[in-house]
Amino acid sequence: MSFSLHGIGVSKGIAIGKVYVIDHDVVEVSEFSLSKQSLEDEVSRFKEALEIARQQLSRIRDNIPKNAPGDVAAFIDTHLLMLEDSSLSQVPIQIIYEKQCNAEWALKLQCDALVQIFDRMDDPYLSSRKQDVEHVVARVLRILRGYTELPAASMGELLSGAIVLADDLSPADTVMMQHHGILAFATEFGGTTSHTAILARSLGIPAIVGLHKARTYLQQGDMVIVDGFHGVLLGDPDEFILNYYRTRQREEKRYRAGLAKLKSAPVATADGTPIILHANIEFPEDMVAVKRVGSNGIGLYRTEFLFLHRREPPNEEEHFEAYLRVVNALKGGTITIRTLDLGADKQGADFAKLESHHSDSHMNNPALSLRAIRLCLRNIPEFKAQLRAILRVSAFGNVRMLLPMISSLQELTQVISLIEQVRQELSKDAIKFDPNMSLGLMVEVPAMAVCTDLFLPHVDFLSIGTNDLIQYTLAIDRCDDSVNYLYDPLHPAVLRLIKMSIDASNKVTKPISMCGEMASDSRYVRLLLGLGLRSFSVNPEAYLEVKQIILNSNLAALSKLASKVLKVGTQADINTLMQQINTQVVA
Ligand code: PEP
Ligand code: MG
Repeated sequence: MSFSLHGIGVSKGIAIGKVYVIDHDVVEVSEFSLSKQSLEDEVSRFKEALEIARQQLSRIRDNIPKNAPGDVAAFIDTHLLMLEDSSLSQVPIQIIYEKQCNAEWALKLQCDALVQIFDRMDDPYLSSRKQDVEHVVARVLRILRGYTELPAASMGELLSGAIVLADDLSPADTVMMQHHGILAFATEFGGTTSHTAILARSLGIPAIVGLHKARTYLQQGDMVIVDGFHGVLLGDPDEFILNYYRTRQREEKRYRAGLAKLKSAPVATADGTPIILHANIEFPEDMVAVKRVGSNGIGLYRTEFLFLHRREPPNEEEHFEAYLRVVNALKGGTITIRTLDLGADKQGADFAKLESHHSDSHMNNPALSLRAIRLCLRNIPEFKAQLRAILRVSAFGNVRMLLPMISSLQELTQVISLIEQVRQELSKDAIKFDPNMSLGLMVEVPAMAVCTDLFLPHVDFLSIGTNDLIQYTLAIDRCDDSVNYLYDPLHPAVLRLIKMSIDASNKVTKPISMCGEMASDSRYVRLLLGLGLRSFSVNPEAYLEVKQIILNSNLAALSKLASKVLKVGTQADINTLMQQINTQVVA
């Protein structure tokens, strides 16, 4: 019988297909006593299982598509290395002999012991390895239990054309899955502006998060429909429902084809004001999508994705090569490279080994802890490698540098003096860079938004990061679906902070843009235009829709309505005005 599960739609689109359930849980095992004579056989069985696991992982690695980011391979390499580590390959053998028990039980005991050690670790990188151990152990246990059919197939075969259902996914998992051709994903946890959700949008995969307990209702291979527009997952759909959604899929395709015609139109409002519309990217590979929609600039290049799923941070050359690929792909357009913003939910995905906090402190609130610029200022050599690479690449194109999470002038002064140091070092070594490269700040901490006038004399531009600005202003974790209902871009405090930042920049005629998800959301584009925003940086997937709205907007009327929005406080009043704003008909 058909049924529906309701979550939060975080990436638009409709997908119809079979579910592939990702089970991060360790397989249940029991203990058996073995006779002394059978121990050798048990050890051989265990070694054989390790070998099959190694072959499976190597096969998955060989099947990674050529255009997948390097971190996908690094992720699998980590699991391969773990299989070889004596803690997983030797200690269980000792346990088999000592306890005269079955291989599954020995492996489980060793896994529990390792997990306990990881749980006690303060270092978030090392404690995030716990999940890797559990995944590797689960693979070997499944082989020992004879479940070879699923893992033995290549990852590509498993995921291609599937709708992935998991408790949660890391941003790196999401990327890996997209490269295996999944149709959509649905998770039991997560929030609208978690990085995984942002990634799903920029990859153009329909996605739903916050589908609590979905895995108890669905099994491997069940037919489902994912409606990313409304956050609804429909299980066991009947012919009538299937036909309805197939029609909607066709309509959506037609709508997208219509938008594609706007690709080369200049971006300006209906009453003739030019607007800057750039794109956000995470990987050099995203330039394909950027080209497809015709964007001639990158308003946000989130470089942290270079750091995911690897043990060591990227070196200067790796940074440089990645940035140069983007510069070469854009030929002449502006590229805004943001320095590392690891921490909070982005650390969940195994971030490279950077010192993250004092060993005697606990990171209870990662979003308020050593994140982004704070983390960089604790890891100067790694930060300098990135600064050098950005400066070097500025010799090859129109590159700007953007700093995340700055909340005080002291931090900014420290970064500026580091940049100066790097400039001197490059000059000394006769390495080219653009001495006039623009430096900008993310407005994403309320402290920055209320004091932009104090920061502006030191920088060339600002970019509003609403994902964090909303999280920090309204005191709600952007990844926590239990408070997602409070995540409100239209909250008067948020709108006033945005307006203050725009006005402060206009006053000193320095450019200000918005690269947070609010800019990509069709519901808010006209309001933002009315508030005075003239530069947007959006997901490639949202690019043409945002462009269409801009082309059909009349600024004079919008600014009057937007100033009214700033003066009202109730949800009902805001909704009435938003209705007027979004239904404005342009002659
Ligand atoms: C933001 O906070 O709005 C932003 C663009 O940065 P990120 O989503 O990477 O934190
Ligand atoms: Mg941010």
